[in-house]
Order: sequence, then structure tokens, then C-alpha cells
Amino acid sequence: MSIRRTFVIVGASLTGAKAAEVLRLEGFDGRIVLIGEEPEHPYQRPPLSKEYLRGEAGREKVYVHDERFYGEHDIELRTSARVVTLDPAGGQLFLEDGRRLRYDRLLLATGAVPRRLSIPGSDLPGVHYLRTIEDSDRLNQAIMPASRVVVVGAGWVGSEVAASARQIGAEVVLIERGSLPLERVLGPEVGAVYRDLHTSHGVELLAATGVEAMDGARSVEEVRTSTGRSIACDVVVIGVGVAPRVDLAEAAGIVVEDGIAVDERLETSTPGIFAAGDAAAAWHPFYGARIRVEHWANALHQGEVAARNMLGLATPYERLPYFFSDQYDLGIEYTGYAPSWDKVVFRGDPGTRQFIAFWLSDGRVVAGMNANVWDVTDPIRELIHRRTPVDASSLADPDEPLEDLAGTATKR
Ligand SMILES: Cc1cc2nc3c(=O)[nH]c(=O)nc-3n(C[C@H](O)[C@H](O)[C@H](O)COP(=O)(O)OP(=O)(O)OC[C@H]3O[C@@H](n4cnc5c(N)ncnc54)[C@H](O)[C@@H]3O)c2cc1C
Repeated sequence: MSIRRTFVIVGASLTGAKAAEVLRLEGFDGRIVLIGEEPEHPYQRPPLSKEYLRGEAGREKVYVHDERFYGEHDIELRTSARVVTLDPAGGQLFLEDGRRLRYDRLLLATGAVPRRLSIPGSDLPGVHYLRTIEDSDRLNQAIMPASRVVVVGAGWVGSEVAASARQIGAEVVLIERGSLPLERVLGPEVGAVYRDLHTSHGVELLAATGVEAMDGARSVEEVRTSTGRSIACDVVVIGVGVAPRVDLAEAAGIVVEDGIAVDERLETSTPGIFAAGDAAAAWHPFYGARIRVEHWANALHQGEVAARNMLGLATPYERLPYFFSDQYDLGIEYTGYAPSWDKVVFRGDPGTRQFIAFWLSDGRVVAGMNANVWDVTDPIRELIHRRTPVDASSLADPDEPLEDLAGTATKR
């Protein structure tokens, strides 16, 4: 008699739901339990700062699968259920309600949570963070055409919320500690594109500015900045980054760095336990380093790869990081990973908001971003993969097909 194996996935969002789907696709006929603390069945977060926040898309647009999918594929989806303890030695875990669940393989897809800002008044009503669909619903209710919105942090989520709030018709002040929006990832040249984008849409951008306190009688009415300004407001949105959810893993003795440390097959330091998505710092064979990526495509594909590895189909995760963003009428895709670079080359005029930017290090392309230009991700990925110096003037020349450059890049 064969015993049915149990694979448990903690975290019922994009990573977890994709992993469950691929386990079945690959023919796993054991028990799959997908556990999530949120009440919703798995959904995708990108629309929460964009069309869903603006009320232009309904709930049905955000789900990873329709509700019937889980039953139809014999996936036990347990929502509003939080895992509180792992016991790797016993091959079991415990839920908040005291129930115990045994597993043969475990995937930690616990994601990330917004970093909190701990300053006077930051817990006042009217101060929002954005991670869940409920957060987006609350924000949608709060932002009216006549609202005065302060967004703290001009990273991706903060910048997208600022754009959506303007599109709703609110007055928006965007406060950023650095000198430009998105500068940490994109550098000054492309950060300036986002500065101009927001200011041309009527956002007041306060760069090189911190936030010292928030005041209000019953809810937030004012934000005080490090430069001594008081900004009257009705809504504050804080977008100062996220922290990976590593608590379960850490308490269970699994190695944690900036995220749950996993090898290229997404297995943690404890055999049989895997981690993927925003929570995981994964060994990347191309970079020869562990990297943690907080983006949709990484969640999607690592969920798939984790499932294959849970089944023993040794599959390294080798995809280059990729993400997208939409703000107003500017849509971008970014491919690569560039903690540092020494040159930025533009193909097209960034002032027109239709261009490709390449980040180079020692003449080699380490990242590329296409802005309102489409179907170029493959050659950009190939240029990065080749790791050979590319002539900057050819990169900048729109008459040189990227495919040719990607195929013919020669050593200097
Ligand atoms: C507003 C917003 C906009 C975004 N826009 C973009 C975009 O435009 N482009 C892009 O590339 N990326 C975007 N992202 C990032 C992308 O959504 C994330 O990378 C992706 O959601 C990560 O998926 P995940 O499944 O790894 O983690 P999460 O989505 O964080 O899911 C983890 C889940 O695990 C649950 N969980 C955690 N611990 C436990 C536990 N102990 N027990 C039970 N359940 C638990 C959590 O409640 C959560 O539901 C955006 C993110 C946000 C928040």
C-alpha cells in the first residue's frame, strides 16, 4: 500500500499558488495543503497600487486562479490560517488555532511586509501602508478627488501610489529622502525621468527630505518634514520598503540572511524545506551570489521552480531578475540586477519617455530598462547574459537592431 505524501506550502499568494499549480501539473498525486493567513484566495499585488487602487479593475482581475481551481485540482486551500511554529525535526508545523500538520516537503512562501515608520503620530488613523487587498480597499476609500495625500518614500510602490492618487484627482506631495525618485535602483539619469514625470503631472516632489512627525486630532492632518515644513493632508501613505518574513524559518533554526537563505534549487539549509518569492535570498548561478528579489516575475517563476525541486526534479533557478511598473502613461520593464554600474547609455531621448536605458559596468550591459518600448526584453536579457563588452554608440543607435548587438557583441 502506498502512503500519500503531503506537501505543505506556507503563504497563499503568487509564489505559493503557482507552486501548488505546478505540483499538480508535474503529476504529483499526493496531498497539497496551501496555507495563508489572509482571508482571500491567492491574488496578485501589482494592481493594488495601480488600476485596482483607482477603482478601474474589480477583484476578479487580481486573483491568481479562480476560486474553483483549488477544489478542481484537489488543493486544500486554508485561508485565514496562520502557521506559528515549524518543527523540522518532527516534519510538522503548528497553526495558530493549535492544529498540527505533518509534511513530507515544505515550501515557505511567506513574502514580505512593509517596513514601518516609527515616528510620532505615525499610528494615527489616516496613515496607510499598502501590501494587501484590504490595504488597497481602505486607500481607495480614503483617496477622493479633493484629498490631500502625502506619500512618504518614492520607491516603486510609493511612486505608483502617487501616480494613482493624482489620476484620481487628489493633490499629492511625494517625500523622498534621496535626491530623486527610484534613484537607488535606477541612478540619477533615469531617476530624473521619474522626477519630471511626477512633477509634470502636478505632484509636488520634496527630495532630500525626511519626515519627523505626523499630527492630527482624530486622524492625520499634518506631516512635519526634516526641512521644517508642515504639510496639511488627509491621507498619508508610507512606502519605505519591505522586510522579508523570515520569523518562522529563523525560529526553526533555518539559515536566514537578508531573507531565507536557499541554494539554486531553492532549498533551505534544512533538507526538504524550500523557500521562494519575496521571502527567499536565493543563490543565483549567474551572479555567483545570493540575491533577494521583491518582484512579481520572481514570485511567479520561483514558485514554479520550487515545486519542481520539491518533486526532486533538480531545477536550478537561473532567470535574470525582471520587473515592470506603470505610472501615468509611462510603462517600463527592467531586466537585470545592477547593484553598481559605471555608465548609463540611452537609446532614444529620455525626455520623450520612449527609450531604452542600459546600465553598463566595464563596458558590459548589466541591466536594461525599456520605457514605452516593447518586445525588447529578450535581446536585453541576451546582452546581459553574454557578459561581453558592447560598443556604447551602437547601443545608443536606434538603427542598430538589438538582436544583432546581442548576437554579435564582440570582445574589446
Ligand atoms: C502594492 C504593490 C504593487 C506591486 N507592484 C509590482 C509591479 O508593478 N511589478 C512587480 O514586478 N512587482 C510588484 N509588486 C511586488 C510583487 O507583488 C511581490 O513581489 C509578490 O507579491 C511576492 O509574492 P510572494 O508570494 O513571494 O509574497 P507575498 O505576496 O507577500 O505573499 C506572502 C503570503 O504569505 C502569507 N503568510 C506569511 N506568513 C505566513 C504564515 N506564518 N502563515 C500563513 N500565511 C503566511 C502572507 O499573508 C501573504 O499572503 C508589488 C507589490 C505591492 C505590494
